[in-house]
Amino acid sequence: MSQGFTVAIDGPAAAGKGTISKAVAAHFGFAHLDTGLLYRAVGAKMIGGMDPLEAAQNLMPQDLEADGLRSSAVARAASEVAVIGAVRAALVDFQRAFGARAGGAVLDGRDIGTVICPDAQAKLFVTASADVRARRRHDEMRANGTGESFAQILADVQARDARDMERVEAPLRPAPDATVIDTSDLSIERAVAAAINAIETKRRAS
Ligand code: C5P
Repeated sequence: MSQGFTVAIDGPAAAGKGTISKAVAAHFGFAHLDTGLLYRAVGAKMIGGMDPLEAAQNLMPQDLEADGLRSSAVARAASEVAVIGAVRAALVDFQRAFGARAGGAVLDGRDIGTVICPDAQAKLFVTASADVRARRRHDEMRANGTGESFAQILADVQARDARDMERVEAPLRPAPDATVIDTSDLSIERAVAAAINAIETKRRAS
């Protein structure tokens, strides 16, 4: 039964959450929300000169499709606005409504299993070492012809991890009932299979 089934997928930057979330949503026929895009859209508006709280309170669905949301500068701005409690609060209702969709939903982010959807039927925490994550990001950027150095990317990943894990509001950490998947030594196929397996187990039990 897929009615009201919510999958929460949390973890640090570049651990494979996005890839796994899309694959899981396609496998189960659930809708998918990349909640990082909400913070990125607010971060992009802050770079454009807008007050982040005003940006969060007035965010429109089309803002999530703005150009450039994937850049490192916007990622940094996203993790800066994400420490502001009032910004997070302004984004809660949209995420919870998405999670409650009748056909099932997958939300990926940092605080989905802990704060946004603490009653999600399935929770995953997808992680990998900082080195592996920076290496993947570096390869991805090289493939796209953009040229930040590995050292720069690693420093960026570590700074973002620290900001996400040490903040007071909704810090990044696994929910006590989350299944942890470390993708450091896993192929995409094996990581996706592990995620589907964990969710199937919860579906059978629910
Ligand atoms: O996942 P992504 O890299 O797009 O997220 C960008 C930033 O947005 C994260 O570093 C984090 O600070 C913030 N974020 C958050 N809570 C979420 C999703 C993202 O704080 N649920």
